[in-house]
Amino acid sequence: MTCGCGNRLPITYRIASVKKETEHVQTFTFAVSLGAKPGQFIMVWLPGSDEIPMSVALDDGKKLQITFFAVGDTTKKLASLKKGDLVGLRGPFGTHYEWKPKQHLALVAGGYGAAPMFFAATEAAKDSCTITAIVGARSKEHLLYLDAFSGLPGTTLSVATDDGSQGHKGYNVDILRDILEAKTLQLRSGSTARAVDQVFACGPEKMLLAVSDLCFQHKVACQLSLERYMKCGYGLCGNCAVDASGMRMCTDGPVVKNDVAREIMEFGKYHRDGLGKKHPL
Ligand SMILES: Cc1cc2nc3c(=O)[nH]c(=O)nc-3n(C[C@H](O)[C@H](O)[C@H](O)COP(=O)(O)OP(=O)(O)OC[C@H]3O[C@@H](n4cnc5c(N)ncnc54)[C@H](O)[C@@H]3O)c2cc1C
Repeated sequence: MTCGCGNRLPITYRIASVKKETEHVQTFTFAVSLGAKPGQFIMVWLPGSDEIPMSVALDDGKKLQITFFAVGDTTKKLASLKKGDLVGLRGPFGTHYEWKPKQHLALVAGGYGAAPMFFAATEAAKDSCTITAIVGARSKEHLLYLDAFSGLPGTTLSVATDDGSQGHKGYNVDILRDILEAKTLQLRSGSTARAVDQVFACGPEKMLLAVSDLCFQHKVACQLSLERYMKCGYGLCGNCAVDASGMRMCTDGPVVKNDVAREIMEFGKYHRDGLGKKHPL
Protein backbone atom coordinates (compact mmCIF):
# COMPACT_ATOMS: atom_id res chain seq x y z
CA MET A 1 0.00 0.00 0.00
CA THR A 2 1.38 3.42 -0.92
CA CYS A 3 -0.14 6.70 0.11
CA GLY A 4 0.57 10.34 -0.81
CA CYS A 5 3.57 12.13 0.72
CA GLY A 6 3.32 14.99 3.17
CA ASN A 7 -0.02 14.02 4.74
CA ARG A 8 -0.95 16.63 7.31
CA LEU A 9 -3.74 14.63 8.91
CA PRO A 10 -3.11 11.34 10.64
CA ILE A 11 -4.30 8.11 9.11
CA THR A 12 -4.53 5.11 11.38
CA TYR A 13 -2.68 1.93 10.47
CA ARG A 14 -2.53 -1.42 12.20
CA ILE A 15 0.81 -2.51 13.60
CA ALA A 16 1.90 -5.35 11.31
CA SER A 17 4.65 -6.60 13.63
CA VAL A 18 6.47 -5.73 16.82
CA LYS A 19 10.15 -6.47 17.40
CA LYS A 20 11.72 -6.08 20.82
CA GLU A 21 15.20 -4.68 20.19
CA THR A 22 16.36 -4.24 23.80
CA GLU A 23 14.68 -4.05 27.20
CA HIS A 24 13.28 -0.56 26.53
CA VAL A 25 13.38 -0.33 22.73
CA GLN A 26 10.92 -1.70 20.20
CA THR A 27 10.41 -1.51 16.47
CA PHE A 28 6.92 -1.33 14.95
CA THR A 29 6.39 -2.24 11.33
CA PHE A 30 3.40 -0.92 9.37
CA ALA A 31 2.35 -2.32 5.99
CA VAL A 32 2.43 1.10 4.34
CA SER A 33 4.89 3.37 2.59
CA LEU A 34 4.74 7.10 3.24
CA GLY A 35 7.50 7.74 0.71
CA ALA A 36 9.87 8.82 3.50
CA LYS A 37 13.57 9.45 2.95
CA PRO A 38 16.33 8.79 5.52
CA GLY A 39 16.38 11.51 8.18
CA GLN A 40 12.73 12.51 7.78
CA PHE A 41 10.30 12.09 10.65
CA ILE A 42 6.63 11.30 11.09
CA MET A 43 4.16 12.32 13.78
CA VAL A 44 2.95 9.26 15.65
CA TRP A 45 -0.52 9.63 17.19
CA LEU A 46 -1.73 7.40 19.95
CA PRO A 47 -5.50 8.00 19.96
CA GLY A 48 -6.65 9.26 23.35
CA SER A 49 -3.11 10.05 24.47
CA ASP A 50 -0.73 12.27 22.52
CA GLU A 51 1.15 12.75 19.28
CA ILE A 52 4.97 12.68 19.17
CA PRO A 53 7.67 12.89 16.49
CA MET A 54 9.62 9.79 15.49
CA SER A 55 12.32 9.30 12.91
CA VAL A 56 11.52 6.88 10.12
CA ALA A 57 13.64 3.78 10.70
CA LEU A 58 12.82 2.31 7.29
CA ASP A 59 10.52 2.99 4.36
CA ASP A 60 11.23 0.59 1.52
CA GLY A 61 8.16 1.37 -0.58
CA LYS A 62 6.13 -1.43 1.01
CA LYS A 63 6.59 -1.12 4.74
CA LEU A 64 7.48 1.58 7.24
CA GLN A 65 9.23 1.15 10.57
CA ILE A 66 9.77 3.21 13.72
CA THR A 67 12.16 2.31 16.53
CA PHE A 68 11.50 3.93 19.87
CA PHE A 69 12.65 4.11 23.47
CA ALA A 70 9.94 3.81 26.12
CA VAL A 71 10.99 6.89 28.10
CA GLY A 72 7.79 8.71 29.10
CA ASP A 73 4.00 8.66 29.05
CA THR A 74 3.34 8.28 25.33
CA THR A 75 6.26 6.04 24.42
CA LYS A 76 5.44 3.74 27.38
CA LYS A 77 1.83 3.49 26.17
CA LEU A 78 3.09 2.84 22.64
CA ALA A 79 5.33 0.10 24.00
CA SER A 80 2.29 -1.69 25.43
CA LEU A 81 0.64 -1.99 22.00
CA LYS A 82 0.46 -5.29 20.16
CA LYS A 83 0.35 -6.49 16.57
CA GLY A 84 -2.99 -5.41 15.05
CA ASP A 85 -3.44 -2.31 17.27
CA LEU A 86 -4.09 1.02 15.55
CA VAL A 87 -1.61 3.92 15.50
CA GLY A 88 -2.07 7.22 13.66
CA LEU A 89 0.73 8.36 11.36
CA ARG A 90 1.21 11.58 9.44
CA GLY A 91 4.10 12.79 7.38
CA PRO A 92 6.82 12.37 6.30
CA PHE A 93 8.15 15.77 7.34
CA GLY A 94 11.42 17.65 7.23
CA THR A 95 14.71 17.42 5.44
CA HIS A 96 16.71 14.26 4.79
CA TYR A 97 20.31 13.13 4.43
CA GLU A 98 21.82 13.62 0.97
CA TRP A 99 24.73 11.86 -0.70
CA LYS A 100 26.19 11.27 -4.14
CA PRO A 101 26.67 7.80 -5.67
CA LYS A 102 29.90 6.02 -4.67
CA GLN A 103 30.69 8.36 -1.79
CA HIS A 104 32.30 7.03 1.38
CA LEU A 105 30.01 7.91 4.28
CA ALA A 106 30.82 7.69 7.98
CA LEU A 107 27.59 7.31 9.95
CA VAL A 108 27.72 8.11 13.66
CA ALA A 109 24.79 6.79 15.68
CA GLY A 110 23.92 7.18 19.34
CA GLY A 111 20.79 5.72 20.99
CA TYR A 112 17.79 5.36 18.67
CA GLY A 113 19.81 7.37 16.12
CA ALA A 114 20.97 3.94 14.94
CA ALA A 115 17.57 3.45 13.28
CA PRO A 116 17.60 6.46 10.90
CA MET A 117 21.33 5.89 10.31
CA PHE A 118 20.54 2.33 9.22
CA PHE A 119 17.83 3.66 6.87
CA ALA A 120 20.42 6.08 5.38
CA ALA A 121 22.94 3.25 5.04
CA THR A 122 20.39 1.00 3.30
CA GLU A 123 19.51 3.65 0.73
CA ALA A 124 23.09 4.88 0.22
CA ALA A 125 24.27 1.29 -0.34
CA LYS A 126 21.84 1.14 -3.29
CA ASP A 127 23.84 4.06 -4.75
CA SER A 128 27.09 2.07 -4.39
CA CYS A 129 28.27 4.16 -1.42
CA THR A 130 30.71 2.57 1.00
CA ILE A 131 29.76 3.01 4.61
CA THR A 132 31.57 3.12 7.91
CA ALA A 133 28.90 2.78 10.59
CA ILE A 134 29.90 3.77 14.12
CA VAL A 135 27.29 2.80 16.69
CA GLY A 136 27.55 3.84 20.32
CA ALA A 137 25.65 3.19 23.54
CA ARG A 138 26.08 3.25 27.30
CA SER A 139 26.68 -0.51 27.40
CA LYS A 140 26.27 -3.51 25.14
CA GLU A 141 22.63 -4.15 26.19
CA HIS A 142 21.71 -0.78 24.68
CA LEU A 143 23.39 -1.19 21.29
CA LEU A 144 20.93 -1.12 18.41
CA TYR A 145 20.89 -2.35 14.80
CA LEU A 146 24.28 -4.12 14.92
CA ASP A 147 23.07 -7.20 13.00
CA ALA A 148 21.30 -4.99 10.48
CA PHE A 149 24.46 -2.94 9.77
CA SER A 150 26.60 -6.09 9.62
CA GLY A 151 24.39 -7.49 6.86
CA LEU A 152 24.65 -4.45 4.59
CA PRO A 153 26.87 -4.58 1.48
CA GLY A 154 29.91 -2.27 1.49
CA THR A 155 29.51 -1.53 5.19
CA THR A 156 32.11 -1.69 7.95
CA LEU A 157 30.77 -1.59 11.50
CA SER A 158 32.53 -0.17 14.57
CA VAL A 159 31.06 -0.18 18.05
CA ALA A 160 31.73 1.92 21.15
CA THR A 161 30.30 1.57 24.64
CA ASP A 162 30.86 3.96 27.54
CA ASP A 163 31.68 1.07 29.89
CA GLY A 164 33.71 -0.97 27.38
CA SER A 165 31.32 -3.95 27.53
CA GLN A 166 31.51 -4.18 23.71
CA GLY A 167 33.88 -2.60 21.20
CA HIS A 168 35.85 0.55 21.97
CA LYS A 169 35.60 1.76 25.60
CA GLY A 170 34.50 5.35 25.24
CA TYR A 171 32.49 7.38 22.77
CA ASN A 172 31.66 6.62 19.14
CA VAL A 173 33.08 10.06 18.35
CA ASP A 174 36.53 8.75 19.46
CA ILE A 175 36.36 6.27 16.57
CA LEU A 176 35.33 8.98 14.13
CA ARG A 177 38.27 11.07 15.35
CA ASP A 178 40.66 8.17 14.67
CA ILE A 179 39.23 7.73 11.18
CA LEU A 180 39.44 11.41 10.30
CA GLU A 181 42.94 11.77 11.77
CA ALA A 182 44.08 8.63 9.94
CA LYS A 183 42.83 10.19 6.74
CA THR A 184 45.09 13.20 7.30
CA LEU A 185 48.06 10.93 8.03
CA GLN A 186 47.34 8.78 5.03
CA LEU A 187 47.13 11.78 2.77
CA ARG A 188 50.45 13.08 4.10
CA SER A 189 52.12 9.77 3.50
CA GLY A 190 50.64 9.53 0.02
CA SER A 191 48.47 6.54 0.88
CA THR A 192 45.58 5.81 -1.46
CA ALA A 193 43.22 4.82 1.36
CA ARG A 194 39.74 6.10 0.69
CA ALA A 195 38.82 9.35 2.47
CA VAL A 196 35.50 10.00 4.16
CA ASP A 197 33.43 12.19 1.85
CA GLN A 198 30.70 12.96 4.35
CA VAL A 199 29.75 12.28 7.94
CA PHE A 200 26.09 11.77 8.94
CA ALA A 201 25.13 11.79 12.62
CA CYS A 202 21.99 11.16 14.65
CA GLY A 203 21.90 10.88 18.42
CA PRO A 204 22.16 12.95 21.61
CA GLU A 205 22.94 16.60 20.95
CA LYS A 206 26.21 16.55 22.92
CA MET A 207 27.36 13.79 20.54
CA LEU A 208 26.24 15.87 17.55
CA LEU A 209 28.21 18.85 18.83
CA ALA A 210 31.36 16.72 19.15
CA VAL A 211 30.85 15.39 15.60
CA SER A 212 30.26 18.93 14.35
CA ASP A 213 33.49 20.22 15.97
CA LEU A 214 35.52 17.32 14.61
CA CYS A 215 34.20 17.68 11.06
CA PHE A 216 34.74 21.44 11.18
CA GLN A 217 38.32 20.90 12.34
CA HIS A 218 39.00 18.30 9.61
CA LYS A 219 37.05 20.19 6.92
CA VAL A 220 34.83 17.19 6.23
CA ALA A 221 31.23 17.72 5.10
CA CYS A 222 28.71 16.68 7.70
CA GLN A 223 24.94 16.45 8.14
CA LEU A 224 23.33 16.30 11.59
CA SER A 225 19.80 15.58 12.78
CA LEU A 226 18.67 18.22 15.29
CA GLU A 227 15.62 17.36 17.36
CA ARG A 228 13.39 19.99 18.81
CA TYR A 229 9.90 19.97 20.29
CA MET A 230 7.74 19.38 17.20
CA LYS A 231 4.02 20.02 17.18
CA CYS A 232 2.52 20.62 13.74
CA GLY A 233 5.42 19.10 11.78
CA TYR A 234 5.03 21.39 8.75
CA GLY A 235 6.24 24.80 9.82
CA LEU A 236 3.00 26.40 10.94
CA CYS A 237 3.12 26.58 14.75
CA GLY A 238 6.73 27.72 15.13
CA ASN A 239 7.27 25.63 18.26
CA CYS A 240 10.50 24.14 16.93
CA ALA A 241 12.03 27.50 15.90
CA VAL A 242 15.63 27.81 17.07
CA ASP A 243 17.55 30.81 18.39
CA ALA A 244 18.52 33.19 16.94
CA SER A 245 17.55 32.66 13.30
CA GLY A 246 14.05 31.30 13.97
CA MET A 247 14.66 28.42 11.55
CA ARG A 248 11.95 25.80 12.07
CA MET A 249 13.49 22.43 12.67
CA CYS A 250 10.43 20.58 11.32
CA THR A 251 10.83 22.10 7.85
CA ASP A 252 14.41 23.51 7.70
CA GLY A 253 15.55 20.42 9.65
CA PRO A 254 15.79 18.03 11.32
CA VAL A 255 18.76 17.23 9.06
CA VAL A 256 21.02 20.26 8.63
CA LYS A 257 24.47 20.74 7.20
CA ASN A 258 27.27 21.52 9.62
CA ASP A 259 27.60 25.18 8.67
CA VAL A 260 23.88 25.66 9.36
CA ALA A 261 24.08 23.79 12.69
CA ARG A 262 27.01 25.92 13.79
CA GLU A 263 24.99 29.09 13.15
CA ILE A 264 22.29 27.89 15.55
CA MET A 265 23.01 29.66 18.83
CA GLU A 266 21.34 27.00 20.99
CA PHE A 267 22.99 24.00 19.27
CA GLY A 268 24.60 21.83 21.94
CA LYS A 269 23.51 24.23 24.68
CA TYR A 270 19.75 24.13 25.27
CA HIS A 271 16.37 23.31 23.78
CA ARG A 272 12.85 24.51 24.49
CA ASP A 273 9.85 22.54 25.74
CA GLY A 274 6.26 22.77 24.49
CA LEU A 275 5.78 26.05 26.37
CA GLY A 276 8.95 27.59 24.97
CA LYS A 277 10.84 27.26 28.28
CA LYS A 278 14.61 26.74 27.91
CA HIS A 279 16.19 23.51 29.18
CA PRO A 280 19.97 23.15 29.21
CA LEU A 281 21.20 19.99 27.46
C1 LIG B 1 12.59 14.77 14.80
C2 LIG B 1 12.48 13.85 15.99
C3 LIG B 1 12.68 12.50 15.80
C4 LIG B 1 12.58 11.61 16.88
N1 LIG B 1 12.77 10.29 16.65
C5 LIG B 1 12.66 9.42 17.64
C6 LIG B 1 12.83 8.03 17.41
O1 LIG B 1 13.07 7.59 16.28
N2 LIG B 1 12.74 7.19 18.47
C7 LIG B 1 12.49 7.65 19.75
O2 LIG B 1 12.44 6.83 20.68
N3 LIG B 1 12.32 8.97 20.00
C8 LIG B 1 12.39 9.86 18.98
N4 LIG B 1 12.21 11.20 19.23
C9 LIG B 1 11.96 11.64 20.59
C10 LIG B 1 10.51 11.40 20.94
O3 LIG B 1 9.67 12.23 20.18
C11 LIG B 1 10.34 11.66 22.44
O4 LIG B 1 11.07 10.68 23.13
C12 LIG B 1 8.92 11.59 22.84
O5 LIG B 1 8.24 12.72 22.39
C13 LIG B 1 8.77 11.48 24.34
O6 LIG B 1 7.41 11.26 24.61
P1 LIG B 1 6.96 10.60 25.95
O7 LIG B 1 5.56 11.00 26.22
O8 LIG B 1 7.19 9.14 25.96
O9 LIG B 1 7.97 11.21 26.99
P2 LIG B 1 7.84 12.42 27.99
O10 LIG B 1 9.23 12.83 28.30
O11 LIG B 1 6.94 12.01 29.12
O12 LIG B 1 7.18 13.52 27.15
C14 LIG B 1 5.99 14.13 27.59
C15 LIG B 1 5.31 14.75 26.41
O13 LIG B 1 6.16 15.79 25.92
C16 LIG B 1 5.97 15.86 24.56
N5 LIG B 1 7.26 15.72 23.89
C17 LIG B 1 8.44 15.32 24.43
N6 LIG B 1 9.42 15.45 23.53
C18 LIG B 1 8.85 15.96 22.42
C19 LIG B 1 9.33 16.36 21.15
N7 LIG B 1 10.64 16.30 20.82
N8 LIG B 1 8.45 16.87 20.24
C20 LIG B 1 7.14 16.95 20.55
N9 LIG B 1 6.63 16.59 21.71
C21 LIG B 1 7.48 16.11 22.64
C22 LIG B 1 4.95 14.87 24.14
O14 LIG B 1 3.68 15.49 24.19
C23 LIG B 1 5.11 13.86 25.19
O15 LIG B 1 4.02 13.00 25.32
C24 LIG B 1 12.31 12.10 18.17
C25 LIG B 1 12.12 13.48 18.37
C26 LIG B 1 12.21 14.34 17.29
C27 LIG B 1 12.00 15.81 17.50
